[in-house]
Amino acid sequence: MAGNGVFADILDGDVYKYYSDGEWKKSSSGKSVSIVNPTTRKTQYKVQACTQEEVNKVMETAKVAQKSWAKTPLWKRAELLHKAAAILKDHKAPIAECLVKEIAKPAKDAVTEVVRSGDLVSYCAEEGVRILGEGKYLVSDSFPGNERTKYCLTSKIPLGVVLAIPPFNYPVNLAVSKIAPALIAGNSLVLKPPTQGAVSALHMVHCFHLAGFPKGLISCVTGKGSEIGDFLTMHPSVNCISFTGGDTGIAISKKAGMIPLQMELGGKDACIVLEDADLDLVAGNIIKGGFSYSGQRCTAVKVVLVMESVADALVEKVNAKLSKLTVGPPEENCDITPVVSESSANFIEGLVMDAKEKGATFCQAYKREGNLIWPLLLDNVRPDMRIAWEEPFGPVLPVIRINSVEEGIHHCNASNFGLQGCVFTKDINKAILISDTMETGTVQINSAPARGPDHFPFQGLKDSGIGSQGITNSINMMTKIKSTVINLPSPSYTMG
Ligand code: NAP
Repeated sequence: MAGNGVFADILDGDVYKYYSDGEWKKSSSGKSVSIVNPTTRKTQYKVQACTQEEVNKVMETAKVAQKSWAKTPLWKRAELLHKAAAILKDHKAPIAECLVKEIAKPAKDAVTEVVRSGDLVSYCAEEGVRILGEGKYLVSDSFPGNERTKYCLTSKIPLGVVLAIPPFNYPVNLAVSKIAPALIAGNSLVLKPPTQGAVSALHMVHCFHLAGFPKGLISCVTGKGSEIGDFLTMHPSVNCISFTGGDTGIAISKKAGMIPLQMELGGKDACIVLEDADLDLVAGNIIKGGFSYSGQRCTAVKVVLVMESVADALVEKVNAKLSKLTVGPPEENCDITPVVSESSANFIEGLVMDAKEKGATFCQAYKREGNLIWPLLLDNVRPDMRIAWEEPFGPVLPVIRINSVEEGIHHCNASNFGLQGCVFTKDINKAILISDTMETGTVQINSAPARGPDHFPFQGLKDSGIGSQGITNSINMMTKIKSTVINLPSPSYTMG
């Protein structure tokens, strides 16, 4: 059970503690932040509202702990990460319970998120041992005008303190995707979890605590992003920010200092459907890609661009599958569950009403109860409708009928986002040519956009992000290259 058994230490009365210097603490602010259950719309949990002084203390201990962690053998860092992964997976049930209550994730998917996170941590430990165990050896005479008088040895060194800020939709997985690479690379880590999802994240952090990481190496400060966010992201002790979320990331990148940034932001993933596509395959992927976790995924299919000649047939197939989706509470494993907050539901409703006023075809009646929005396909959407461009982050999907592939590509590339996209056709040559012209970080051929498997590179172009994630890329991003050059008194060539 959440907050019980091994997790009893992290709870004080009805408020969850924050984690600093290897201990669970109450904030001196005396204030807490409420976490509203999206299904009941009542307060489910409370977390500490940490103060700036507490953030300062966390940064100080993170700096000190990092120095000795960087001198900890790689195999030992990996060993601790493997231990944390095992503990995390052992406690998947109470953590999944929090995900269900805080973010209305269907119960089965909540368990999957925790297990996938454990696997990610283990893979990261193995990958880190491999790639951080290697450096480069360069000789000088490959550059014009030089003789072989210099040997250059390079290795990857940690950056220092990494600040990790994940979003509400995967508060465990998108936290460990930052924590594990940071730690294996010899950095310390400060986590600021999303408010909706904070209690799941605190349970996950406790698994790292139980694994026995040194004091101060990992910290977790809670509070509203709007209140402590700027103080954290502009803190002089932070040497790298890894952020996943919406437009907040753009604001952070403008304020952050001269430090490496990893930004995974929003998306408006297009699904381009050609005339020769297997429409059953497309319909299945639109349902999975557009409506899983009620559309609250960065890589959800967010606009369908289908050739007019097959549009009627595709819409019919999607509607048939959509009518089978179950709608209700996450505890019952329904396909469509309440969206994360009332303001999110209001935003989605605004997009739907705008499309209605401008003449979109409603394939289902619009229905909402509290934060629960029934799945809706909007046909004949046109570019003057907001939903053609904006990210609903809900179970509402627009279909735009196109008369040429170029029209579809044009719509995809006119977006300010460039996360992923997908194209459905049986002609692989056409698929590759279309993929090359789509301005997105990834294009999936004959499948819906997806973030995983977690070791694949994952990146957004334009407003969708800075840098690339995926386990290997994240480890590399959280390190710097250090060179040592050996200067010889005279050229030296190995003769064998
Ligand atoms: P969000 O509102 O941008 O929040 C993300 C995180 O930023 C939360 O932890 C939030 O904390 C924190 N935050 C808020 N204001 C801040 C500030 N001034 N400084 C620092 N941190 C601050 O995003 P969300 O609603 O949680 O997630 C949905 C968005 O994330 C969508 O746009 C989605 O596409 C995107 N997303 C992208 C990816 C990707 O990989 N590209 C993956 C998943 C989601 P509080 O909760 O306390 O406000």
